[in-house]
Amino acid sequence: MLHLEQLSLNIPETSKPRVVIIGGGFAGVNLTKYLPDDQFQVVMLSKQHYHGFWPLLYQVATAGLEPESIAEPIRKLFDDRKDFHFRYVRVTNINPATKTVTTLIGDVQYDYLVIGTGTKSNYFGNEQIKQNSFGLKNLTDAVNLRSQLLQSFEQANITKDPELRQSLLNVVIAGAGPTGVELAGSLAEMRQHVLPRDYPGLDFRLMNIYLVDGLDRVLPPMSPESSKNTHQYLEELGVNIKLNKLVSSYDGETVTFKDGEQIKTQTLVWAAGVAGATIDGLPPETVERGRYLVNHFNQIQGFEDIFAIGDIAVMKSEKWPKGHPQVAQPALQQGRLLGKNLVRQLRGQAWEAFNYFDKGSLAIVGRARAVADLPGNKSLKGFFAWVAWLFVHIYYLIGFRSKLIVMTNWLYRLFTYQRGTRIIIQPYVHAEDKAGQEYIRQHVSE
Ligand SMILES: Cc1cc2nc3c(=O)[nH]c(=O)nc-3n(C[C@H](O)[C@H](O)[C@H](O)COP(=O)(O)OP(=O)(O)OC[C@H]3O[C@@H](n4cnc5c(N)ncnc54)[C@H](O)[C@@H]3O)c2cc1C
Repeated sequence: MLHLEQLSLNIPETSKPRVVIIGGGFAGVNLTKYLPDDQFQVVMLSKQHYHGFWPLLYQVATAGLEPESIAEPIRKLFDDRKDFHFRYVRVTNINPATKTVTTLIGDVQYDYLVIGTGTKSNYFGNEQIKQNSFGLKNLTDAVNLRSQLLQSFEQANITKDPELRQSLLNVVIAGAGPTGVELAGSLAEMRQHVLPRDYPGLDFRLMNIYLVDGLDRVLPPMSPESSKNTHQYLEELGVNIKLNKLVSSYDGETVTFKDGEQIKTQTLVWAAGVAGATIDGLPPETVERGRYLVNHFNQIQGFEDIFAIGDIAVMKSEKWPKGHPQVAQPALQQGRLLGKNLVRQLRGQAWEAFNYFDKGSLAIVGRARAVADLPGNKSLKGFFAWVAWLFVHIYYLIGFRSKLIVMTNWLYRLFTYQRGTRIIIQPYVHAEDKAGQEYIRQHVSE
């Protein structure tokens, strides 16, 4: 049994500059790669002990990939470094006066502090939706959603109640950004090619996949042309798209929209918005709409030794008046540049200002159905966009083992439409659902 008061961060003393990085996402991990081990001590504090490749998270949720194939333990990523210290812990406070960050098990001092905490789901203050819906932000979310979907099919297969069956077969996805679109497309392909074979007694024409958004088009961050093509692909796959539609409540059984329409479902997936994961302690004027305001060196407004990088940072420029898009590339590029700038600092050289290199964006709806917005206002769709998507994502996956597993799975699925991981490892019930917990205890666990 661990007692909090007996724990400490246990970071060794050092004569080198200590860089404390909060978060092991794209930004924090890439920064670490550019800080030479013999010149800096790096302390990484993260509330997840793995580094995940989130663009493929929906594949875990829909049983296309194993969780392990899209994530690496942070310790393994840097096991060749001597002065890298990872602690699996949440940071609760920053104290710039004492140059200290506070965690649940103690404090650590920094010479440079880098905040790379990314975002969390935004429920716009609606606690009921937060309690009852499924998020898709990390591996736990994805495995929970996978369990929920598979359990729903199992239950739909055995219930005598047609209303309950319908609500088990309805899936509502709130948010038609890339996550919502990719999840909806993947579920639609599963409905078409996989589920009827698994459950021959169930009529999957009854399964409805609703994709809902408050805006007037799907994939709003991408070009209107890509939105239009995506809309068409989703319709071809039988996804029920509802635009200009806001969810107002969800009690675990019924989604109610602002216009009064209701849909009975056991599964609402919340992909409708994110908010920056800020940490207490910095002055309120450093935060704008949930992100830290930074200059072109990623220094947080008013500080020379505290930086924010990636999704949590908002760096305004003429070209990006609202800051960069909250996607992987700005996080990777800011991490790399900050690493190089900290090395320049040691050498007494001038710092380089950040200049975002936009490589374009891609989204996938299904096999041979993808869209791409390329630099120079060009777009791509269909088979070629899908192949581009496939290669870009494999290329960026970290670690040889992951690449091999992902590539093999994809090739296998390409020819068979199979989903290899349709396994309920951890039966899922909402914390509140006492009857569900009792059912699992009596009928499944024992
Ligand atoms: C489902 C999904 C799909 C996506 N698809 C794409 C895509 O196709 N293409 C694309 O470019 N981008 C995509 N993104 C966005 C992309 O993943 C983010 O832009 C990127 O992860 C940002 O990197 P980051 O390092 O800023 O934050 P993150 O990768 O979110 O990392 C944040 C880190 O901070 C840690 N943390 C947070 N708070 C604390 C705290 N208080 N204490 C300690 N640690 C903390 C977290 O545990 C995590 O390790 C997707 C995101 C999701 C969730």
